[in-house]
Amino acid sequence: MKFDWTRKACRMHKQPMALATILASALLTVHPAQAGSVSRIEANSSNITIAFDDVVEEVSTFSLVGPDRIAVDIRGGKAGQGGYAQGIVKGVRQGQFKPNTARIVFDLERPAVITDGSFSKDGKSLNLSLRPVGQGQISSIRQSFLPPTEFRAEPPRKSYSVKVPLGKPKDSVRLPKIYGPDDPNRPLVVIDAGHGGHDPGTVSPHGGTYEKNVVLAIALAVRDRLIAGGQVRVALTRDTDSFLVLQERYGIARRLGADLFMSIHADAAGNESASGATVYTLSEVASDREAAKLAARENKANIINGVNLGGATHDVSSILIDLTQRETMNISADFAKLLHREASQQMSFRKIPHRYASLIVLKAPDTPSVLFETGYLTNKDDVAFLNSRQGRSKVAAGVARAIESHFARKLALR
Ligand code: ZN
Repeated sequence: MKFDWTRKACRMHKQPMALATILASALLTVHPAQAGSVSRIEANSSNITIAFDDVVEEVSTFSLVGPDRIAVDIRGGKAGQGGYAQGIVKGVRQGQFKPNTARIVFDLERPAVITDGSFSKDGKSLNLSLRPVGQGQISSIRQSFLPPTEFRAEPPRKSYSVKVPLGKPKDSVRLPKIYGPDDPNRPLVVIDAGHGGHDPGTVSPHGGTYEKNVVLAIALAVRDRLIAGGQVRVALTRDTDSFLVLQERYGIARRLGADLFMSIHADAAGNESASGATVYTLSEVASDREAAKLAARENKANIINGVNLGGATHDVSSILIDLTQRETMNISADFAKLLHREASQQMSFRKIPHRYASLIVLKAPDTPSVLFETGYLTNKDDVAFLNSRQGRSKVAAGVARAIESHFARKLALR
């Protein structure tokens, strides 16, 4: 037996080069804007006062239960230190939640909500009214408070340039077109067709269907169906056969301020009789061995020639990420149930239709996200269904109904 050492050595020598290209080409520029630091916090049973040393962009608040808390996000703000609390407010914590957003968390002795709030005339202090309520009277709706226009910080201008070194170099991940009603208040859904470009995903043993192609066709059908419904706005992370790393996929949703993110995939199993759809939401603990295997398979999309294109950086402080992420995970799980309820009238699901897995593509801390495995490319009937226009339009109808019901309450309130 003889090995072709020359070829092997040659291929191995290419890897560090690829890595160097990525490091050199990953670029992030943030033009700093004004940011007021939190200079004083005072809280008692009926009032919260937050003062800043300069103007901020916007403040939003929401309540959380178990344990009872109120979180206050200050966009265009920098976290300061400490704070004074008394009455039902047991403690005050603050930290930099995002580069441009400070978060203050008020730990409460009992449930309470913010009923009102107003900025001082110079925009440098915010007074919030607090009211204790009964258990079960908490809603997780976010309320926003804006400083007076002339004393409001401008949001920073950001420019990102992330290059993918394999294939043709990309200048940056451009934000996709938004379809649907020309109304920024309508909910925005980002649909992500999995895989793409040099990553085919699963290849079906029945006719060689590529996952990247069939999921793009499904994503387009969902988009068209949502546009026809006229209720929500919709954007696709990709509408061509192109490759995106997993962080870029949810990154697009975050940068667009999406209200829901859905990544569409098709499954594979060694056992060809396995069939039906599954909807996955994020959990660090996989719901079963199969979910763990699926996460390993889908997360591999970022690793090419042994190089991790996604990196492992987190721009969010680890202690505070937990709060919003938990809130986001609950909304995601509710949507997953709704998706099963609506789409199971159009297509078949597995016995356990909703599972949990640690999927990178679902890790946006503030965008409710699901990964929809629409069926098995290793199952003959599932491939035929997903490859047919009729099958795809059934999937699209189920998905669109679920999305429209999910936002129906919000729309009714407008
Ligand atoms: Zn996939």
